[in-house]
Amino acid sequence: MGAVTEVRAFDDGCPLCEAAKITPWHHEDDVCWIADCEICATPMVVWRGHGTEPPEDERGHMMAQLVRVAQTNLGAHWIDGTMRNIPNHFHAHARPEGGFFGPGGGPGRVVG
Ligand SMILES: [Zn+2]
Ligand SMILES: [Zn+2]
Repeated sequence: MGAVTEVRAFDDGCPLCEAAKITPWHHEDDVCWIADCEICATPMVVWRGHGTEPPEDERGHMMAQLVRVAQTNLGAHWIDGTMRNIPNHFHAHARPEGGFFGPGGGPGRVVG
């Protein structure tokens, strides 16, 4: 028998499973990827599995990566673990201290 390969859940209709590179990506590995959120324009870590309960070690790994990226891109920041738009796939945002959206993000953002 070879190495154990963890099979992760995947949902065809889920934009986070699709992992389209429509914004700048900061990090990717077997557990997660981090890209700027299309809406918020802040770094967002996304689990590779479709679901809301990543194992504790993978959750810790994701938070460590997000903090590293956020420190580089935002400086002072806070971690927002609320999954507003896609509640069925684990992800978390890093947001600038005292703010919600990154530069150029938010409802007033010009799209197109
Ligand atoms: Zn967002
Ligand atoms: Zn998904």
